[in-house]
Formats: sequence, structure tokens, C-alpha cells
Amino acid sequence: MSHAVIADVPAPKEGCSERPVIRERGQREVFCGLTGIIWLHRKIQDAFFLIVGSRTCAHLMQSAAGVMIFAEPRFATAIIDERDLAGMADVNDELDRNVARLLERRPDINLLFLVGSCPSEVIKLDLSKAAERLSKNYAPDVRILNYSGSGIETTFTQGEDGCLASMVPELPTLPEGSDQSLMIVGCLADVVEDQFTRIFERMGLPTPVYLPMRDSNEMPPVGPDTRYLLAQPYLMDTARALEDRGAKRIPAPFPLGVEGTTGWLKAAANQWGIDQQTFDEVTASGRARAERALECYREQLAGKRIFFFPDSQLEVPLARFLSREMGMELIEVGTPYLHQQHLADELSMLPEDVQLSEGQDVEKQLDRCHAATPDLTVCGLGLANPLEAEGLATKWSIELLFTPTQGFDQAGDLAELFARPLVRRAKLKV
Ligand code: SF4
Repeated sequence: MSHAVIADVPAPKEGCSERPVIRERGQREVFCGLTGIIWLHRKIQDAFFLIVGSRTCAHLMQSAAGVMIFAEPRFATAIIDERDLAGMADVNDELDRNVARLLERRPDINLLFLVGSCPSEVIKLDLSKAAERLSKNYAPDVRILNYSGSGIETTFTQGEDGCLASMVPELPTLPEGSDQSLMIVGCLADVVEDQFTRIFERMGLPTPVYLPMRDSNEMPPVGPDTRYLLAQPYLMDTARALEDRGAKRIPAPFPLGVEGTTGWLKAAANQWGIDQQTFDEVTASGRARAERALECYREQLAGKRIFFFPDSQLEVPLARFLSREMGMELIEVGTPYLHQQHLADELSMLPEDVQLSEGQDVEKQLDRCHAATPDLTVCGLGLANPLEAEGLATKWSIELLFTPTQGFDQAGDLAELFARPLVRRAKLKV
């Protein structure tokens, strides 16, 4: 299942944080953005993801999503073969034929994403033009958008960012002078969305709209009266696109753990002027349940030393949760990009002396990891197996995207994800 991509990353920007940050530009080991299709196709239930890529891309998706294939999968790969790569065939004609075949066979598709890959970028196939051309043929029945899932310059969660950003120009306009609306941005499990909706409604906030939506016919409206809360920390392009439409971000930590979830909900409550008493009344039972759930794992995690390799961009909020709520000791918190604005609340809650790193030079980082001998290492699949073979306990960061972890009722599951490898290792030792 492992598919590591090694590429040069652009030089990270200076001045991202006032804390000392190791900034590296070298070989990196991450999954590509195609991986996001695995959770996106489950979320937008009438969408289809057509990867325009190579057999390698098809194999990646098959092995990564193999366990989830069902009768009518909602993603596929249009293979660019060697002839296409040599520029000998008209790839656009071939793509049009593939799309026609697909839409004829699958009338249930309302939203089609053409997903770019390394090969489509290498041959400079312009998928935005293809999406525009095909949209004219199939509108209004099928909307056709495009984004890149290529691994050349991106990390695996940026596939979701690209997908959501591609939808923003298509969102209907919230009429001027409307009441302020609340938009939650970033993939969340349906069960988590429903919990959050109930909490917001009980506090007296407007019923939130979600991006991505479950049904492509219900695209959430956006405009200058939209206030949005990021549910995921890796949505830079989506945030920029929303701001271009006039929406304003509500600064907040991310809803991981009791503290993060409370801070995230409170930021929205403050925006609508909800008083502290109402906030406490609505959130008290959820907080108490989460506290009890965390208690079960504190003994296994407290005092354990953890090292984060940069992968999912969830590293900073996770480190904040694990150090402050579970008592873990942070050795190094690596993240592909350190977005100062979106992570401001999170960074302010990290211990003063934590070592942050941005970007990667994998050999150097492995040296630091070996020297530190952490109790637990969070990393991508490409690094996990060799590290396990060397005797280090690891956690695959991609699992954090497949498992509902946000909100009060998932806080225990989040802690359990980190406790599990330690418990397994302890049992093996016995
Ligand atoms: Fe590999 Fe690139 Fe295809 Fe991803 S998009 S599977 S990195 S070739």
C-alpha cells in the first residue's frame, strides 16, 4: 500500500513563527494528493473522481482504497499511456471519449472532478480547459470541475484543499444584506457534522452549512455575510478562494480534543455574541463525556515522548492536544507547511521549548529521530515500516484522516489512536 514520493520542495518562507523553527528543503517522503479521494468520495455522495494519470496512479488508488471498493466505485483512472506521454496521441480526444462513456453508464453522477496527476502535469495537459469544454457539453445535468492531486509539489491532504477550492467559484451567492451565515469548511464525518449542527443550534447560532456538502445539488451559498470556521488546518487555497468571495474566517484552534473543540465552538459563539452561561450549558455534558473518555488513555500516554514527521498538516493541533491534554512530551513537531495565521491559536498553546520543523530533509530528520529514540513516531506509510523494523513504535498519520476524530464525542477515539501502538508494543515485549 505504501507509495512514497520523493521530490524537492520549494524553499519555505521565512518568518512563519517567532519560535525557533528548523526549515528544511530536501528529499521528502509523503503520499500525493490523490489520496484525498478516498475520504472525499465518501463525503460528496453524487460526485465522481476521474483521475487523469498513469497505471501507477491507478495502482495507488486501488491499493489505498482497495478495502473500500463497492459495487459502483465513484473514482477511476483514465490512463495516460506511453504514446500519450510521448505526445503522439490527442489526449484531449481520449479524455472526452472516456468522460462520455462514463456519464452514459453512470447517470447518477451530478458532479465530476477531473483530477490531475504527475503524468498529466508532465505532459502539460490543461485540465481546466478540458473541464470548461466538457462542462459546456454536459451542463446543466453534470457539473465538471478540476483540481490537481499530483505529488510533485504537494502533500496528501492538499488534494482535499484543491478539491474544495475548485468548488468555491461554483457556490451560489449569499444575497447581500442576509443575516450572517456560518460555514464549516473541511471534510468531517457525517456523524461529527450532525453533532456540531446540534450544538450550534442549541446555542442559538444559525444552522451551519458545510463545505464539502453531502449532495452536490446543495452547494452552500457564500458572500460577504459568510463567516467560516476551518475544520481542518490544511485548507489554504480554499480559504483564499472563500475570502475572494467576501467570506471572513473566524480565527480558532481546531476541534481536536476537549480544549480544541471548546475553543473552536467558543470562537463561533463569540462571533454571534452568545453569553458564557449559555455556552457552558450547551457544551458541559459533551465536555464531561470527553474528559471521561480521555481519562482511560492518560495513563498510557502521559510522559511518553513523541516525534512528528511532516505529513498530514494536522501535526501542530495534534501536538497541542497530546501535550496539553494527554501529558505527552513533544520532541519534534514537523509539518509540511507552517501557516502562521491559520495555526496562530494552536502555536500559542504549544510548550515554549518545543522544536518545530517545516518542510523536510528526510535523512537529516531520520537522524534526529534516531538520536531522540521517541516512544512514538507519527509519520507516513513510507517511513513507518523501516522505523518499526528498527524497533520504534509508529502511528500512520493517514489514519487520522480516515477516522472521525473531531468533537467531544470523538476525543477518546483520537487518544486511542495514539495509545494503540504503545499498548501493542508493550504486549509484544511481554
Ligand atoms: Fe504517483 Fe504522482 Fe500518480 Fe500520485 S499522482 S500516484 S505521486 S504518479
